[in-house]
Amino acid sequence: MSDNTALPAGEIFPERSARIGFSRNRLVRHSERREKASDIAAMMALPEARSFVIAGDVPILRRDGEAFTPRFTMAEAGALAPVAETALLGTLDGTPLFATLIATGEVERLKETGLFAIDLRSIAVQGLLPQDELGPLGEGKALMDWHRRHGFCANCGARTASASGGWRRDCAACGAQHFPRTDPVVIMLAVRGDRCLLGRQARFAPGMYSCLAGFVEPGETVEDAVRRETMEEAGIRTGRVRYLASQPWPFPSSLMVGCLAEALDEDLVVDAIELEHARWFTRAEVGAMLRGEHPDGFTAPLPFAIAHHILKAFVEEGESF
Ligand SMILES: [Zn+2]
Repeated sequence: MSDNTALPAGEIFPERSARIGFSRNRLVRHSERREKASDIAAMMALPEARSFVIAGDVPILRRDGEAFTPRFTMAEAGALAPVAETALLGTLDGTPLFATLIATGEVERLKETGLFAIDLRSIAVQGLLPQDELGPLGEGKALMDWHRRHGFCANCGARTASASGGWRRDCAACGAQHFPRTDPVVIMLAVRGDRCLLGRQARFAPGMYSCLAGFVEPGETVEDAVRRETMEEAGIRTGRVRYLASQPWPFPSSLMVGCLAEALDEDLVVDAIELEHARWFTRAEVGAMLRGEHPDGFTAPLPFAIAHHILKAFVEEGESF
């Protein structure tokens, strides 16, 4: 089938974002066709149509030779367990891709049939799927997880029903329409000359330091959120803020907005609730951390996380103020 869209179908643009885990997504979403139930049904009926299967918020994988695949035929997906929801994610190289939601309680039974239930973070960290598949699977996981947690109207409490190819939930009782959420999170590297500010949370692996981050609040610009979070977590005032890259982060439905911030102070006042520790690192130190060669054993986040790429931009591409 042809991709009916004004955008270059399935093209990846060479910006920084496209190199990051969950950001590579070549799906053509066909948002203009979601309202036509007959179009969705026709795509679903195509023999080449495939579906991801999400049990609660955990993707189901099957063996495909030596590798794993999250793709099932529509018939296979429908036969695994009672289907709670289905959504059209888009087409990839002409192949319609859907997401199917089943109950978390089905996992143990499916494992006994030789299938695998592996959380998305582990799939990314262990590199179990090609980069091209991670973005669409993250999209499917975020969307199915939203359906799972929005069965009732936030306005009146009545049951809601999926609509628009799985991209909306409608309330028949009060007429409200509910759309899948994306929650913006700023993640920033405050820099001052040749040094940058990194922190660590108690839950991090020993020795790992990363960028500071926090949710954007109502009424806030991205820049204001960067300045507020850096002040709250580390006591550092920041001036200019520049966007670097973004990353869909389907845990459960964030968009990480990666920024560089110009630090105006050096003396840290660390918020002990948010961070276990924070300190300044030189460019050379961060380079060693990215290569896993820091003499004190400090490490940086892995390449599937946007923080890795923000640090790389600072160390290797000379991003600074
Ligand atoms: Zn309602």
